[in-house]
Amino acid sequence: MATGAVVLSAGIVVSATQPAPLSEVGVALFSVLAFLGGAVLARAAARRSCHPGVWGWYAGALLVAGAGAALALHTPGSTVPMTVGALPGMLLTVPPLLRLIPVGTWRRLRAQLVTSLLLFLDACLLCALATFELVSGRSLGLTTLFDVTLVALGATLALLTAMGLLVVASTSGALRRVAVLALSGQVAITGALVLMAFSDEQDAATPPLVATAVAATLGLALLVGAALQDHTPGEPLAEDDPLSFAAAVLPHLTALAAGCLLLSGVLVTGALDVAQTVLGGVGLVLLAAHQTVSWRDSRDLTRTLQRSQAYFRAVVRSAVDPVVILDGDLAITWTSPGFGDIIGRSAERLVGRDVRTAVHPDDRPALTAALLAPQVGAPREGRTATARVRHDDGRWLLLQARVRDLRQDPAVGALVLHCRDLTRATPARPAVADALPLGGSDPETGLPDRSALVARLAELARGGAEVGLVKIGIGGLPDDPAADVARDLAGRLSRVLRTGDRLLRSGPAEFAVLVDGGISDAETLAERLVGAVPADAPVHGLRLTACAGITALEGSDREPVAVLRRASMALDSARGAGPGRVRRHSVALLIAQNRREALRTDLALALARDELRLVYQPVVDLALQRVTSVEALLRWQHPTWGAVSPAEFVPLAEESALVTTLGRWVMRTATAAVAGLDADLCVAVNVSARHVRSGELLGDVSEALAASGLPPERLVLELTESVLLDEAHVTDELAALRRLGVRIAVDDFGTGWSSLAYLVGLPVDVLKMDRAFLASVETDPRHQALCRSVLHLGTSLGLDVVVEGVETPRELQLLRDMGHRFVQGFLLARPTELPALPGAVQAVPAALAQGAAR
Ligand code: C2E
Ligand code: CA
Ligand code: CA
Repeated sequence: MATGAVVLSAGIVVSATQPAPLSEVGVALFSVLAFLGGAVLARAAARRSCHPGVWGWYAGALLVAGAGAALALHTPGSTVPMTVGALPGMLLTVPPLLRLIPVGTWRRLRAQLVTSLLLFLDACLLCALATFELVSGRSLGLTTLFDVTLVALGATLALLTAMGLLVVASTSGALRRVAVLALSGQVAITGALVLMAFSDEQDAATPPLVATAVAATLGLALLVGAALQDHTPGEPLAEDDPLSFAAAVLPHLTALAAGCLLLSGVLVTGALDVAQTVLGGVGLVLLAAHQTVSWRDSRDLTRTLQRSQAYFRAVVRSAVDPVVILDGDLAITWTSPGFGDIIGRSAERLVGRDVRTAVHPDDRPALTAALLAPQVGAPREGRTATARVRHDDGRWLLLQARVRDLRQDPAVGALVLHCRDLTRATPARPAVADALPLGGSDPETGLPDRSALVARLAELARGGAEVGLVKIGIGGLPDDPAADVARDLAGRLSRVLRTGDRLLRSGPAEFAVLVDGGISDAETLAERLVGAVPADAPVHGLRLTACAGITALEGSDREPVAVLRRASMALDSARGAGPGRVRRHSVALLIAQNRREALRTDLALALARDELRLVYQPVVDLALQRVTSVEALLRWQHPTWGAVSPAEFVPLAEESALVTTLGRWVMRTATAAVAGLDADLCVAVNVSARHVRSGELLGDVSEALAASGLPPERLVLELTESVLLDEAHVTDELAALRRLGVRIAVDDFGTGWSSLAYLVGLPVDVLKMDRAFLASVETDPRHQALCRSVLHLGTSLGLDVVVEGVETPRELQLLRDMGHRFVQGFLLARPTELPALPGAVQAVPAALAQGAAR
């Protein structure tokens, strides 16, 4: 087509410079060539487009137009026959244009499109006719060739424009651009034909010929552009497309214009000719038809909509779970009758309200997050949201919803919640939860605080209701946790409560729940509460854990302080058992607690009463086959309880500054004892974390060394790994101790968080492997391999590695086989009183020989 356009314009310009009749012959010749070229190119473009049929037909139509124009070559002297000859071809371009309309759109809007088209066509013709008659002052008859040509041209132009506009209005996106290009191309070519007809009337003046060339070239170029752009098969038109509105209105506007022109004509000429009357009449009929069709279509649409809504609701109503439907702004648009069954008549009042206003304030942020979270996977799978919703009778119900996000589904465009009532079936006794607490409330979470808990417990103690108390301890919180963290925790915990249970904040790292029911209800709930703080789901970046202690207001001791103490005791016991544990208060716990309290009081006096002493356990060097050092271990002989293990009383001492006093005493006693021995032994002293952090350790050690005269190289300080991971000033103090010549050991290695890697760069000389390290080493070859590589790695880091708790000859043999050097354990020597120590030390080589022999 492009070549054709170039040939056409060149030809016309060349012909225009020739004298008539040569010029007409030239124009006709070049026009024919141009149409032929256009046809050939249209065929080529057709193959690459997405509507090959459309552009193939176009090529055919252009060929017909070319052939028609060729006939004009036989009638030189006028361009009119040539114009007329090209018209059938132009008319043939109408059907392919119509085929650009997507099938879906055509099916849906067929009747409307056809009536609009006809109305528009009729109105265009009427406009053209009225304008002509107004301007020329005469009626258009079919008596002269010129008039016939004009009528034919006008009709073709009107038809093409009407069709083109219709197609443009019924397509969208890229296809609409193609339709616009094709329409403009056709209008330009038809315009060129009109110009050609006028060039005859005005005696072959040059300007119309040049304009013809420009218009025809432009027209063909636009058609080529349309064919080349045609890559997307159209999509059915969206109902709210603004152009479909324009298409609906345009025929009426044109009809209005035609009516005005007609009236003006009548006013000016005082008459109405036959053509105008007929066209006007047809226009009125079409107007009525179009109106009828539009009404019928809109009625059908409404019915379909009503049917689909009724169907949707019927499906939803029959679903087992109650359903709530939310729009994109989370406003409730519909609730199923089943939902009303759960929450009562207030379900109806919720329609139109934001769903977040219908739930408990604490649950709002989590609910918003759950509803608006981006959908992962198919919307059918859904996600769950849990929140408390108030029943008509004022109770809070715990509802869980499976959320289906169908906002992107054009047929639904909503969030569909399938709800479930998690609230316990039996109605709550209002005794526990409903009365307002008397005490204060926690400013961060808004929950009732500890004083409210005490007040409420006192109130409940007077009544006879069965009430449980769960105390939840949160582990992993910093000293001063952010308010966000507390709020988040409160949200998580409150989501697992049932109606009648009440959450309170009893301390910075503690929550409490008053449970509606007995101790077993409390136990079930406590498991859920602890599960709501899983260690693997960080809260604001913190890895938190929860433990719970349980007691109940039962029996005679309902006094608030006693109840709270029992719950704390149970919580302590749960903490001791590890993260995620739940412990019920029991008599055994009570006895343990009483003993702890007695020991705590007595420990302060133990030193003064001379109940404490040290025993020494040898550490053996397997390479030198002898004892190289001893570990000082504290012993307490209690007047009533007898021998108390340091594992029990040292943690009690750790609770106060007492542990520093004890540590100082141990340091002095141990250094003095070992310095007084004949043997050249080192001594290891256990140092508590609190003593290290007190900042007094360096002074105490220096003093003990000075007093005893023990060389610093013979003192080892045993610290647990958590102390080493502490703040920088601890590391500084340890570094200062090392500069003195004192060595530092990491005690109980392998029981905490440690990996060997972190030891690099820390001020450490000795690694003491915990007894647990030897577990199953005798039976499990994989464990043996692990043991071997850890020992090897420790040694290669330049550390003296001591394996503690060697109890069997087999363990000893395995360690020897691994080439391991330092061991400590009952097999070779038990912790010994100072007087017996030299004997125990001397007995070791024999025990070694025996152990090795076994
Ligand atoms: P530890 O520092 O790990 O001390 C080693 C513990 O293992 C000692 O228990 C010792 O008697 C025991 N033990 C040694 N060989 C074996 C064995 O072959 N098998 C078994 N099952 N156990 C063995 P002990 O004396 O009851 O001390 C317990 C913990 O109390 C010590 O653990 C230490 O953490 C703490 N402790 C003891 N004395 C002191 C002290 O003076 N100050 C401080 N701060 N803590 C101390
Ligand atoms: Ca130790
Ligand atoms: Ca140890």
